Amino acid sequence: MQIKMESNLLGANEMLARQNRSLFEQKGVLVINLMSSPGSGKTTILERTIDVLDGQLKLGVIEGDLYTDQDAQRIDKKGVQVFQINTEGACHLDAGMIGTAYKRLTTGNEDIIFIENVGNLVCPAEFDLGEELRVVVMSTTEGNDKPLKYPLIFHQAQAILLNKIDLLPYTDFSLDRFSDDLARLNPSALLFKVSGRTGEGIKTWTEWLLGVVDKKKIGLNN
Ligand code: MG
Ligand code: ZN
Repeated sequence: MQIKMESNLLGANEMLARQNRSLFEQKGVLVINLMSSPGSGKTTILERTIDVLDGQLKLGVIEGDLYTDQDAQRIDKKGVQVFQINTEGACHLDAGMIGTAYKRLTTGNEDIIFIENVGNLVCPAEFDLGEELRVVVMSTTEGNDKPLKYPLIFHQAQAILLNKIDLLPYTDFSLDRFSDDLARLNPSALLFKVSGRTGEGIKTWTEWLLGVVDKKKIGLNN
């Protein structure tokens, strides 16, 4: 019974995710699902990313949070369109929430919409939101064993942002072990080493995003 309920839930989500995806394609917007455990630095990275890209691209942010709007307020201060979803305790975002949020947020001409998922490495991986890219943020302070412990989320991601790289010397994090495990689990994933605190590596990440947006525009014009 439990299993049947779960598969119905995922089936319904799948249908809404497909609707979102075709809408995003039609609008030509790059939608990125940012996932991580709590405290890995998603919001700080978003702030840094906005600092570099704002003015070059039209951005929007959908903030997922259990109860508060603190992260949305931080994004709002940057002058970027933001829509807050409070999941009231639910530990992941789903496609229905994103469909509603997008319609409330959009002005119709965004280049990128970032979705900050609820901090959790488990079930967000199971819920397709209709996004084009999945990005996992994890920090050096969380330990290098996370890809092996949470293989699904790392397996599905197109890019991994290894945050708090400035703290690497103060941790037991093994970059070699981490890179090897990741390469075995997901050989095509891109790895960006960044620091939300110092800004290190952010430019490499934003250059990649600009490239993805450019390619998308060329594709749309053909
Ligand atoms: Mg946050
Ligand atoms: Zn969940």
